[in-house]
Amino acid sequence: MNEGQTRVEQRYVLEQLLGRGGMGHVYLAHDEVLRRHVALKVIAPEWVDDRKFRDAFAREARALAALRHDHVVRIYDAVARPECTYLTMERVPGRLLSTLMEQHLAHGATLPPFRALTILQQIAGGLAAVHAAGIVHRDVKPENVIIEEGSGRPVLIDFGIASKYRVEEEPAGTPAYLAPEVIFGGPADPTADVYSLGCMAFELLTGRLPFEHENLPELYQAHLGHERPLVSSRRPELGSFDLVVQRAMARRAADRYTSALEFAAALGDAMERWSRGETLPEPARESSDALRILVIDDDDDFRKLAARAAQLALYQQKVLVSTARTGVEALAIARRTPPDVVILDYDMPGLDGIDTLSRLRAIPKGGDARVIVVSATVTDAVRWRFGILGVEDFFGKTEGFAGLVGRILEVMNRYGWARAETR
Ligand code: ATP
Ligand code: MG
Repeated sequence: MNEGQTRVEQRYVLEQLLGRGGMGHVYLAHDEVLRRHVALKVIAPEWVDDRKFRDAFAREARALAALRHDHVVRIYDAVARPECTYLTMERVPGRLLSTLMEQHLAHGATLPPFRALTILQQIAGGLAAVHAAGIVHRDVKPENVIIEEGSGRPVLIDFGIASKYRVEEEPAGTPAYLAPEVIFGGPADPTADVYSLGCMAFELLTGRLPFEHENLPELYQAHLGHERPLVSSRRPELGSFDLVVQRAMARRAADRYTSALEFAAALGDAMERWSRGETLPEPARESSDALRILVIDDDDDFRKLAARAAQLALYQQKVLVSTARTGVEALAIARRTPPDVVILDYDMPGLDGIDTLSRLRAIPKGGDARVIVVSATVTDAVRWRFGILGVEDFFGKTEGFAGLVGRILEVMNRYGWARAETR
């Protein structure tokens, strides 16, 4: 690669730096052969000098390339030559889970628990697939999860590919999430990833890391020690998750869940205990080729207005507009017929917009829905709260009927759903 040019091997045109880290730079690049955007990670020269590193890099990329999972970034290509070592992968537009979490913390809030738990379960599922391919991630943390714009799909990125070949005094990985055995340079196996995911679970649920020591030896001492904080010490209402998170973070690998799937299942059981009493009807599903719009608002006038705006915006195609007065009603409809587009009120009694969408995202096909959030005024708080659910489209109720028609059309066009002819 020639740094002076913005190309890698004639094939990839580098368009934008997405991030830089210990192993190299990640770019948004255009693949001129397949004519699509990719994320391209160029490995820094200091790593690629080592033959063993390159072999491990190629071997692990090959194993990952065979893997297909919704919550793991897809690997397209890997090249490991002394003068040019890089990896291309699916470009996931969106924001880092760490960034979204920081926005909540900056406003004195934590993630909606149901949403946090769904993300954890999905990432655990992805991690299990990674393990099944014979790879240990080695750096599970919110900074390595992208929440995809539009769908809210959490995607695991940044595998510690070949990082065991790093010749450093520091163990590979991020200290705040590091399993005790890895601190001493022991082999990282899948249970080490379960440990890191346990730390991440504690963080997503409470807004704080389990161990917050600034000083590295003290931090390692805490991981190696016998004490583990309980989720309920920070969030008394989340006591159902105490034992589950604690077991994932067990000091001895043998005391942890033996697999990421087992951890995910335990989280699921705890969620059931936690939300017992909240019963949602589960009617049979209907299928239809019409575009399904779901309007959710407790305000009768706006609900009707929004339903009419959707009809008008999409008059050229077959649409099915349903309306719901409450989040619970909306979820019952969404289970029967998963919506393509949701027009969602933020402020509702009972389940509010966040609670409703957190649950909707967790039901089958719930990630397919493109969502427009409506609110009396679209404040900054409305935007950052919905970021964790992949929402980027907002509408102020004062913007009027024509404005809403326009916004719906804009969203439909963006996602390629507006049709010139009737379907
Ligand atoms: P390392 O762990 O090797 O030191 P790193 O943490 O810098 O590297 P990544 O986490 O893979 O490497 O990527 C850095 C940044 O690039 C990410 O934080 C993210 O913003 C962006 N990025 C990485 N992969 C993708 C992708 N597939 N799609 C979109 N953005 C990505
Ligand atoms: Mg990273």
